[in-house]
Amino acid sequence: MTLVQFDKKAYLSAGNLIRIHSDLRLRYSQRAKQGEIRFGMRILLFELGKSHYQVQHEVNELESQGTLYDQGLFFSREFVEEILTELNLPVSYRFNANNLLIQREAKRKTRKMLDFIVIDAGHGGKDSGALGYFDVQEKDITLKLAHALQERLRADFSHVKVYLTRSGDRFYKLETRSRIANRKNKDSAFGLFISIHGNSTLSPKVKGFEVYYLAQSHDNMEARQMMLRESMRYESSAYIRKLKSKLMSAQIQRESKTLARSVFHGMSNRLDGMIKPRKVKKADFAVLRGSLMPAILIETGYLTNRDDLKRLRSEEYQKAFAAGVSRGVSTFLHELTKAER
Ligand SMILES: [Zn+2]
Repeated sequence: MTLVQFDKKAYLSAGNLIRIHSDLRLRYSQRAKQGEIRFGMRILLFELGKSHYQVQHEVNELESQGTLYDQGLFFSREFVEEILTELNLPVSYRFNANNLLIQREAKRKTRKMLDFIVIDAGHGGKDSGALGYFDVQEKDITLKLAHALQERLRADFSHVKVYLTRSGDRFYKLETRSRIANRKNKDSAFGLFISIHGNSTLSPKVKGFEVYYLAQSHDNMEARQMMLRESMRYESSAYIRKLKSKLMSAQIQRESKTLARSVFHGMSNRLDGMIKPRKVKKADFAVLRGSLMPAILIETGYLTNRDDLKRLRSEEYQKAFAAGVSRGVSTFLHELTKAER
């Protein structure tokens, strides 16, 4: 798409902007100088001449958004970049002197696209985790489940590398666990992080499993964007690093939610009442906070409930759990391909 120059600055016409994606919508009032750009559920509000704009009620600073020329609306190159990233458009783009080059994001192929999965058995070593009846310790349950899951995933996804953060009774800090996973994340490899835990509560009646993904907060999103920026040393422009890290962080968040849902349903189907499904939930777990890839935490059942505990210790359950999670991963990959079509 051709850029036009006014006062030595590059602009894209509004007409060209909406051609970037067929679901992109633009409304603009000449009189109020205010406009709205919409992509799916995301809405960006702007006002020509102002040094800020708004996305989903969040205000972002930007000096020059655009200009009117001969009755036509034109957006500055900087603003176009913000629009593409803030609205999460599934495209990649590049500017050269006179052009904006847009490419639909390459379709990821189911199964083939996933490079690795890191399974994190919760607790370990001096940290026993929750305690159940018969002196059962959470750290032993999670390790058994992690091994069962590794075996199953290796069988179901033969080309995908499946790692464990710990394969024995060892203690690792929470940050270390996500760091182990992030280290595999090099060279734009695509991976998933699955942390396994067992729950406990004072009431012995409470039972069931839950699947968690990270609850967004201003602080943990900022932290993730900073880590992403640091991992982009190859990118020389600080501005591009900032935009890319925002885009990636939002994508990781969306995909974590999809993964949590898929795994929850996979487990619900496969476990068939062995341990009852409770909910997909959001929480600010430290082990998820540090992850630079889609990440979930599974609370597999309550160690403080006799029925759940009996299941958690049985090999039959461990196998069904592994099959359920694996099915969930499969559905997740399918969902991603669908979303990006
Ligand atoms: Zn735990």
